Amino acid sequence: YGDASQKVDYVFKVVLIGDSAVGKSQILSRYARNEFNLDSKATIGVEFQTRTMIIHHKSVKAQIWDTAGQERYRAVTSAYYRGAVGAMLVYDITKRQTFDHIPRWLEELRAHADKNIVIILIGNKTDLEDQRAVPTEDAKEFAEKEGLFFLETSALESTNVEEAFLTVLTEIFNIVN
Ligand code: GDP
Ligand code: MG
Repeated sequence: YGDASQKVDYVFKVVLIGDSAVGKSQILSRYARNEFNLDSKATIGVEFQTRTMIIHHKSVKAQIWDTAGQERYRAVTSAYYRGAVGAMLVYDITKRQTFDHIPRWLEELRAHADKNIVIILIGNKTDLEDQRAVPTEDAKEFAEKEGLFFLETSALESTNVEEAFLTVLTEIFNIVN
């Protein structure tokens, strides 16, 4: 973890969005530091974290922005989206409402972000399968209809988190190359 090499070929800004408490900060913490914080308030105030990965033999620095609680006040501003080439749209598979709000977030994203932004829909907390409220098939169907990538993750168990970032970063890489 951390910077894989000194030379950076690309820097890609990726934003995390979605309702409060879906696990955005934990997904970021898992990806950037391979940590899951029991006290999630620890990440409040942090604007972004980075991690450098090698994609097709190039060093790609992902600069991942987290809303740090602003989503509760609908205060995510256009500055947050500025320059973003990727977005992770997160809901909680155990909270139907967080999935029902996804179209709003998508609208917000399409209003503020670059029209070529690469978007992945993420259903987080798969470790809570017994509390599932959003069928995988519903999300998959929505993602296909909207042209989004889709994965289910668990930041807690570290399932698919790396895959989700790799999917977005590789697609961005392919677009700019
Ligand atoms: P945010 O508001 O979207 O940034 O959400 P947080 O990352 O702060 O997480 C909200 C709550 O969900 C915290 O209590 C986390 O510990 C918990 N959480 C986050 N990811 C997971 C996960 O994958 N599984 C489970 N069981 N809990 C999670
Ligand atoms: Mg957060």
